[in-house]
Amino acid sequence: MSDSAIFEGGQRQKNHHGVCPGLYRIIQAADGGLCRIKLEQGRISSQQWRALAAIAQNEGNGIIEITTRANIQLRGVRPNRAAALSTLLEQAGFAPKIPQGDDVRNVMVNPTAGFDKQGDVRIVNLAQHISVILQTTPRYQTLSPKFSLLLDGGEQCAILHHHNDIWLSLCDGGKNFAFGLASRPPLEGEENSREALGKVPFHKAQSLIFTLIDCLLEARATSIDIQRMKQLLQSFGEQYVVDFLHKKQLPIQPFPAFRRQVDADFSYLGLHETAMNERFYLAVKAPLGRLTPALCHLIADCAETNLLKQTTRLTPWQGIIFPDCHFDQAQKLAQILQQAGFVTQPQQPLARMICCAGLAACRSAKADVRTHAKHLARTLMGQNFRPIHLSACDKSCAANEAAPATLVALDGSHYDLFIADPRAISRFGRKQASNITIDEAAKFLLQ
Ligand code: SF4
Repeated sequence: MSDSAIFEGGQRQKNHHGVCPGLYRIIQAADGGLCRIKLEQGRISSQQWRALAAIAQNEGNGIIEITTRANIQLRGVRPNRAAALSTLLEQAGFAPKIPQGDDVRNVMVNPTAGFDKQGDVRIVNLAQHISVILQTTPRYQTLSPKFSLLLDGGEQCAILHHHNDIWLSLCDGGKNFAFGLASRPPLEGEENSREALGKVPFHKAQSLIFTLIDCLLEARATSIDIQRMKQLLQSFGEQYVVDFLHKKQLPIQPFPAFRRQVDADFSYLGLHETAMNERFYLAVKAPLGRLTPALCHLIADCAETNLLKQTTRLTPWQGIIFPDCHFDQAQKLAQILQQAGFVTQPQQPLARMICCAGLAACRSAKADVRTHAKHLARTLMGQNFRPIHLSACDKSCAANEAAPATLVALDGSHYDLFIADPRAISRFGRKQASNITIDEAAKFLLQ
């Protein structure tokens, strides 16, 4: 993110590169203030959707984004409205446990945790408990706002391609958690991904997480450059962390063979059975990750017709899940949402596309990637093509792992095209074509 100023509590403050927006920290972007709302396990009620619509309309430019960490961003926040905006969001139930805990409350779980056919329901309480400790413990509040934690309870609808400072993945029939740092769980069939650092019994998960964080904070005390697990490993190495855990008497065992099971693609789109008899969840994706106030009201209307009423979950695929529906009801909701522009099926071109905020919203952007993505979607309609990420500069805000194909903007109408390849030097993969237009890119993607 490239921004020029931060408004905190309504006060203009000196910026430093890489600062994240928050509920109480509005970052100045090209299209105005940017506010990020972190949600507990991606949960958002229909009343909150309606409140969000009103706040985005009255205090911002009406653009509401779902982020790749299942959070919400409000764009175009008007000057001098930062403090009022935070108060309105607090009143709508978006506040952290205490204001100092805002940055560290994003403990990720798979978005169907608690009702997935395969998941372990204990993960929900564990995540809640850890989030509360992170928010309310002063030393943990000092973690980088980018610090990320994933608790994978073995769900079918799983977050498999997001890197985290710490990840835990349930294994051995729910007895243990495999865990790793500055990476993601290695997947079935993969050879080159970073192996799990070890495994611990389920009941030791909480101790493990906070001991790992303590290890990071101790290392940070020796060098301000160590803010994330990636930097800890670069400076001290994995063995240092393993020794630290042993010193704290955590019963970790090596587990190099761990591979996370990979289920069918697109479990985050369409209708799927839940763990409850004859109940389904409906998953949809917001068109290129953005909503309007009118779409927020539509989501609220739909949420109020599902069985549990009013509860939805955001997904890191920039989508929304309606968790508890009868089959017919879910089908009807899917029709309504598709007519309104939501992606409801894997066959829709936008199901395979992500892009960043682009030209109008970000000062680093070189191209209007959102318009180009829509053009590409029209061109590729009905064809089989590689999933694609359009990035308006090489910072890659919309994806933290190489997509199967990535277009990186060079100027307003030209891109370099990369194909994912773990052996390549570039974070995007192997360069397949240079300086091509969006129409030329469409031809490459079909090959
Ligand atoms: S990737 Fe996109 S949103 Fe991120 S800094 Fe570059 S242009 Fe801006």
